[in-house]
Amino acid sequence: MEGRTCVVTGSARGIGRGIAEHLGRKGANVVVNYRSSEEAAREAVETIEDHGGRAIAARADVTDREAVEAMRERCHEAFGPADVLVNNAGMTADTQFVEMSPEEWESVLEVNLGGTFHCTQVFYDDVWNAPEGRLINISSVVGKQGNFGQANYAAAKSGLFGFTRTIALELAQGSSTANCVAPGFTKTDMLESVPETVLERIVAEIPLERLAEVEDVAAVVGFLASEDSSYVTGEVIDVNGGMDL
Ligand code: NAP
Repeated sequence: MEGRTCVVTGSARGIGRGIAEHLGRKGANVVVNYRSSEEAAREAVETIEDHGGRAIAARADVTDREAVEAMRERCHEAFGPADVLVNNAGMTADTQFVEMSPEEWESVLEVNLGGTFHCTQVFYDDVWNAPEGRLINISSVVGKQGNFGQANYAAAKSGLFGFTRTIALELAQGSSTANCVAPGFTKTDMLESVPETVLERIVAEIPLERLAEVEDVAAVVGFLASEDSSYVTGEVIDVNGGMDL
């Protein structure tokens, strides 16, 4: 990853933080995007620099087109065009479908799917022109299997599959690739609202008998971001401990 520039959305904490630090340790220049976690973004940059890497923190709400365009400018000023875009920023607003408000539906679609649209379009030329350009979208096992109380999130995450396959076809006219990573249940703040008893039931159904660590997901993203994955495109890589076996 030496000299490659990677933009990771929502990377001040959680899975995105794990991805940013993993790519930084491998020698990439990293744009640590955040929306509200400014202090954590600064810490992520320091951690990457402590390991000898280069990073900047860039604030942008991924649903705000102008803010994403400003982030691209910051990336270009610091490192030049991006080789890799990881669309990781995501959110949930869980509730049973009959009680789901239009706002709960729209906000989840807007961040998980709309944010991916804006960031991909803004960084499209960078990824297209890069010698080994990579688009990596973070979906979820929930996009494949559905999940009680997550109709909005499941719709957004499964929407990423069709989106990724289509962009993969279009990027294939150059030499760049697009893939999805679909993590299973991963130890981050996102699971904080899930009751312990529900988590125990989930773990009981995972063949590898544990939740994912952020590093489990980051390592797979690291492979897809590297030149080793040149001939992999349009795929969904499950990182879920065998949940669908
Ligand atoms: P998390 O700990 O809740 O972190 C969410 C991240 O997304 C934060 O960095 C947050 O930034 C960022 N974000 C949210 N809305 C944003 C916006 N509008 N603009 C920019 N950034 C925004 O979540 P996580 O568990 O790390 O999840 C990361 C990704 O993995 C998500 O796409 C999620 O759907 C997916 N995923 C998670 C799991 C899981 O079990 N944890 C499983 C499968 C897939 P700020 O803090 O700066 O606001």
